[in-house]
Parts: sequence; structure tokens; C-alpha cells
Amino acid sequence: MENCIFCKIANKSAPAQIVYEDNDILAFPDINPAAPIHILVVPKEHIQSIADMNGNHTGIISKIIFTAKKIAEEKGLTGYKLVFNVGREGGQIIDHLHLHLLGGWKNKSTGEV
Ligand code: 5GP
Ligand code: ZN
Repeated sequence: MENCIFCKIANKSAPAQIVYEDNDILAFPDINPAAPIHILVVPKEHIQSIADMNGNHTGIISKIIFTAKKIAEEKGLTGYKLVFNVGREGGQIIDHLHLHLLGGWKNKSTGEV
């Protein structure tokens, strides 16, 4: 997709500090972090959102979630949040599927870091 920032990051025409990459997915820090650690895990294929997934996407979505778990472990996180925003009503701003990995608080309830 021509004007999609996450497609541009995936094809290296826009910068990001990539923390994981394989043939299907990549992960990089959120530019405006909402947690001490905030990583986005995205498919290289332009899928708009969870709402646009079909049965062919079950493999990629599993891989995205499993990769987030591995990155969380690598970063020493014992607790974290995994979030998909879906559509404008769900808070989605970037129309390229992405999983938010959020963590690094000592206590999420108090916000203590
Ligand atoms: P959404 O609200 O669509 O679920 O989340 C999109 C996220 O992408 C936001 O947290 C926002 O800060 C992040 N973001 C937007 N543009 C860029 C960018 O160019 N680079 C990076 N690394 N993150 C971005
Ligand atoms: Zn895209």
C-alpha cells in the first residue's frame, strides 16, 4: 500500500529501529510509547485490521502473538499487555494490522515504573 507507514517501514523506505524481522513479520518500538516498553508487531502483508482477516490469516496472527511473547521474554518482562485496536471505534489510527506489546511497569495498576 503506497501511503501506508507500516508498509513503508516493512519495505525500508521509512525508518524504524527493528527489533525482530523474518519473511512474514517485523517488530519495532512505537514512536509515541504508552508504556516503558512499547513494541509494535506487524505483518509485512498489508492487512487492514483484525476485522479484515480471513481463514488464510490464522498462521500469521499466531506468529504475531507468539513473536510478541518471545520479545517480551527477551526484554525480561514477566507481565505485559497485548492489544489489537480494531477500527476507529476501537482506537485504531494506522490501518495496517499491528499488535501492541506494552510492559515494563512494576505495577500496571498504579503506573509505577
Ligand atoms: P493504533 O492506534 O492504530 O492501534 O496504533 C498506532 C500506533 O502506531 C500508535 O501507538 C502510534 O504512536 C504508532 N505510530 C504511528 N506512526 C508511527 C511511525 O511512523 N513509526 C512508529 N514506530 N510508530 C508509529
Ligand atoms: Zn500497510
